[in-house]
Amino acid sequence: MSRFMNRKYDALKPYVPGEIPQDTGFIKLNTNESPYAPSEGVLNCFTRENAALLRLYEDPTNRALNQAIAGYYKVQPENIMATGGSDETIELAMMAFAQDGIAYPDETYGFYQVFTNLHQIPTTIIPLREDFSLNPDDYSNTGTAIIFANPNAPTGLYLDRSQVRKILESNPDHVVIVDEAYVDFGNESMIPLIKEYDNLLVIQTFSKSRNLAGARIGFAAGNAELIQDLEKLRNSRNPYDVTRMSQLAGIAAIQDAAYYRSCCERIIITREWTRRALRELGFHGTDSHSNFLFEAHATIPGDVIQAKLKEHKILVRYFNRERIKDYNRITIGTEEDMKQLVSVLKEICNENS
Ligand code: PMP
Repeated sequence: MSRFMNRKYDALKPYVPGEIPQDTGFIKLNTNESPYAPSEGVLNCFTRENAALLRLYEDPTNRALNQAIAGYYKVQPENIMATGGSDETIELAMMAFAQDGIAYPDETYGFYQVFTNLHQIPTTIIPLREDFSLNPDDYSNTGTAIIFANPNAPTGLYLDRSQVRKILESNPDHVVIVDEAYVDFGNESMIPLIKEYDNLLVIQTFSKSRNLAGARIGFAAGNAELIQDLEKLRNSRNPYDVTRMSQLAGIAAIQDAAYYRSCCERIIITREWTRRALRELGFHGTDSHSNFLFEAHATIPGDVIQAKLKEHKILVRYFNRERIKDYNRITIGTEEDMKQLVSVLKEICNENS
């Protein structure tokens, strides 16, 4: 740290992303990206003509993209705010609505803690049940804002609408932020509930189910007043957050919904195949409703599995945290990726038996 760095950041622990290797020989199952290409419509956006327009700033209101998202989810454009990735949306939501602090589960997306540290937001950490499920009763009358991922990461466990309603109804004076990064892998979105609950903010990303992690597109859905509050902060920070190319790609992705649905369906089928194969090898894990599995082996420690897989050029995500130290989070890749994973794990299990 230089002697010029503001001391208020002394204790800040930045987010540590999954490894992004420069060597392309890896099967990358560590950051929950899609194994499939963006849609044809997205690929066709990157023309010379569109690239030539990069000399101009894009529309800072993201109007066309917000309209496209609103049309898809059958809400009004004033209910939607696109941002440069959903990490940005989460940060803005915490800045806006966590005045009284914020509650979230003990095992969840690591950026929540990074943002609460960065913005010095008082935090209530609520332990998940023994089986990693979230008990809605633990969130009644928290006296703070609430954020949870649904499905949660890295567990993949999902709360249905009635459970989310319970949390919304028992916290009428605080915003409940539902991070739906992984909702499209077989779950119902809470977006329709924004018409009923003025304290619901849903956050989604184009990084997972729309195969666009590199485009950095996220969005918030909520009642118009919540969105105006977020816009106020967005425009005080980085109004040009969704680049011109990403706006075009995002609109094309919404138009190509059928393609994305078919990618998600393939991922779900591959997920279930992989889960069964891992059970036969002595793994146990959560009932993940996401594009990843969260799995531990009966006898081989989690960090050993991660290291051995890496020797075989397969990357998975290991979190060195006490409660989940036996587990790895394994992104679902193509059918071939997962066959290779299972075959290498078979070898690892044989070596260690
Ligand atoms: N929420 C959760 C639960 C995530 O796992 C991720 C991906 N790391 C994000 C939000 C952020 O996604 P992005 O910034 O790429 O939209």
